[in-house]
Amino acid sequence: KYDLAGKRVWVAGHRGMVGSAIIRRLECEDCEVLTVGRDRVDLRDQAGVRGWMAEQKPDAVFLAAATVGGILANDSYPADFIYDNLMIEANVIEAAYREEVEKLLFLGSSCIYPKLVPQPMSEDALLTGPLEPTNQWYAVAKIAGIKLCQAYRRQHGADFISAMPTNLYGPGDNFDLEKSHVIPALLRKAHEAKRTHASTLTVWGTGSPRREFLHVDDAADAMVHLMKTYSGDEHTNVGTGNDIPILELAELVSDVVGFQGRVVTDPSKPDGTPRKLMDASKLLATGWRPKYTLREGLEQTYAWFCENIETAR
Ligand code: GDP
Repeated sequence: KYDLAGKRVWVAGHRGMVGSAIIRRLECEDCEVLTVGRDRVDLRDQAGVRGWMAEQKPDAVFLAAATVGGILANDSYPADFIYDNLMIEANVIEAAYREEVEKLLFLGSSCIYPKLVPQPMSEDALLTGPLEPTNQWYAVAKIAGIKLCQAYRRQHGADFISAMPTNLYGPGDNFDLEKSHVIPALLRKAHEAKRTHASTLTVWGTGSPRREFLHVDDAADAMVHLMKTYSGDEHTNVGTGNDIPILELAELVSDVVGFQGRVVTDPSKPDGTPRKLMDASKLLATGWRPKYTLREGLEQTYAWFCENIETAR
């Protein structure tokens, strides 16, 4: 058991959707939260990271900083995705070891698993097959992050762990229709459709793929829980254990937004992988549970979107 009380805790990537959720969650802990802006320290720069870590001497680190993006961005900037992420994690993990950080949690993603992996995806499916080619750059960097934590544990006894969350959504998400994931896209589309009294809401693809979704505040809660209670070689999946078809998600979003028209599909757009569900049994066996139902999470996120519509990405 690791006690965060009285500790200096660095959240790397505090401006991102997950990092900012971790900051909100840490307000309930009796700890001192450290952050550093990109203008002060570029996490890809080894000397900068070492210097900052030596000066600040955090006790614990949440490594939520990453270069992220959708399928289009991954495809267009493969060098950025692999280089930035390898550098960020190598710099932060090595500096954490040098400065004797007591506990570090590295954040990955479900795209680390092979493309044709059996569903639900369990932790031991890692490196059992070829990756999805479009995001392989990002995935290889994230797999290297898991391996860094394992290697520093093995060689140096460092208590560095990894968490792999499923599809996350919530405040701070990217609502740009071209770049966003399905939940922010549907919230925005349904909002616009309601506002303009449109008769239909269009869903990309056939609507039959199934996806699992977790509210980012629940993900942050799971990460703090793992930081406090988990210590081990293997990464831990962070998910709910439930998934729903996209068409059903669209109906739910319509209901939450108050759009009363019809949901229609556009099969000329890609479906992507038919199913993406994490096996979260390892995490759920520790007693942790998400607090939001999908409906509640969508309501909360829609309220945030309405309040931040001017500034939302
Ligand atoms: P994925 O989980 O990596 O496939 O990422 P997405 O969140 O972008 O897409 C999930 C599923 O939602 C796919 O089957 C998409 O075709 C479907 N989908 C339906 N409408 C939309 C939309 O407006 N935007 C996005 N991004 N996906 C949509």
